[in-house]
Amino acid sequence: MVRQPSVLLIEDSRSISFVLKERLEKSTGGRITPCFTAHECRDVLENVTQDFDAAIVDLNLPGASNGELLDLVVAAGIPAVVFTATFDAAVRDTILARGGADYIIKDHDSALDMVQAAVERLIGNQYFKLLVVEDGSSARHSLVSVLKRQRFQVVEAKTGKEALELLEQQTDIALVLTDHYMPDMDGYELTRRIRRTYKSEEVCVIGISSSADRLLSARFLKAGASDFVYRPYVVEELQCRIDLHIQALSKVRQLRMAAFHDYLTGLYNRRYFYDEGPNLIEKCLRKGQTCSVAMVDIDHFKRINDTYGHNAGDEVLKHVTSRMTARMKDKPGLVGRVGGEEFGILLPGMDDQEALAFCEALRQEVSNDVLVLGGQEVSITISIGLAHVSGREYFHNYINAADQCLYLAKYAGRNRVYSESHIGSDL
Ligand code: GH3
Ligand code: MG
Ligand code: MG
Repeated sequence: MVRQPSVLLIEDSRSISFVLKERLEKSTGGRITPCFTAHECRDVLENVTQDFDAAIVDLNLPGASNGELLDLVVAAGIPAVVFTATFDAAVRDTILARGGADYIIKDHDSALDMVQAAVERLIGNQYFKLLVVEDGSSARHSLVSVLKRQRFQVVEAKTGKEALELLEQQTDIALVLTDHYMPDMDGYELTRRIRRTYKSEEVCVIGISSSADRLLSARFLKAGASDFVYRPYVVEELQCRIDLHIQALSKVRQLRMAAFHDYLTGLYNRRYFYDEGPNLIEKCLRKGQTCSVAMVDIDHFKRINDTYGHNAGDEVLKHVTSRMTARMKDKPGLVGRVGGEEFGILLPGMDDQEALAFCEALRQEVSNDVLVLGGQEVSITISIGLAHVSGREYFHNYINAADQCLYLAKYAGRNRVYSESHIGSDL
């Protein structure tokens, strides 16, 4: 669940503050808290309990002209984007040494765009997990701290073998930063092995090395690395490269999200359900697990639309979705919207009896709910057809079997669960 972002805006110029607040509210959909004086800022940091995702910090505020507010913000664990008019190498070193996450110089027309982009990055980075592979502990720690300052989730490995294990266990790792010289396998070999399993749009790899070999970068890139940086690196340069790769991954994720999810309910769509369903069942069979397939259909849904309007119908679809996803939480499986008011659920690890109990509980819960539609209290019901995976048949055979049970549940009066075992006993 993505929570509403929150940004602290420390800036004494009212016009700049106003423009930034407006822009950030629009682009992040979050809450922006402006502070115009050092006093106001201290007050917010002492009394406001909410977690800020980022702070924009003007280095020179009346009463705090030596960057004291940056120290306060960093001490509060808030990633800071320093917005400064005075800039030279010493200011830059101070900002980084004091723990600023980023800085933007107020000397050009697009400075506000850059502040906005920097804040958006800090808000978005928390949804990306990075893996640092480095055998030297001090090099590893300094890299990890650079990344954590950018609000990335970070996991660490000391060897290539550990890295490969982590990638297998934690399937949400988006980017690997790897050293070259390591005891068990070098970064080049690690990159090759990562590429055997993961495409570059799934996991980015950036090599980092203090090697004097100027062709090492070429070797990494030809092995499938997305990028390469020589040590000692310039933090801003490393950060910029990581940002570019994360932005590209983020775009891919958005496209996948749109291609495989249903816009209204957020569930997987029919295409994903039918593409992934067979793979999930195949996995179950390989593990010797049982599996069940359920088709869920809202009863007399057309009447809801006709009586209360299409928007009310949409609310009902979202409500039933929330009941299904809550019951599937922490369970392996798949829920998809396969038709207008029809959903498919795969229940790996559940035999016929367990799946029947699951569906029965879902049916009962939905029928007990009271929804308010058009100012009226309304109850809705669902019917469910259930089939059990018994061997290597085609996926659509199982879907057809569940669909037939669903048809029989409707025919028998709706608001009921029918499984293949019912049919056997009824006939
Ligand atoms: P039964 O109990 O036999 O399933 O009857 P029903 O009325 O639920 O089924 P029917 O298939 O006749 O009607 C389904 C309706 O669902 C028709 C269609 O307009 C509506 N529908 C499909 N997609 C959406 C949607 O996204 N939102 C809304 N509000 N309605 C939708
Ligand atoms: Mg229906
Ligand atoms: Mg239907």
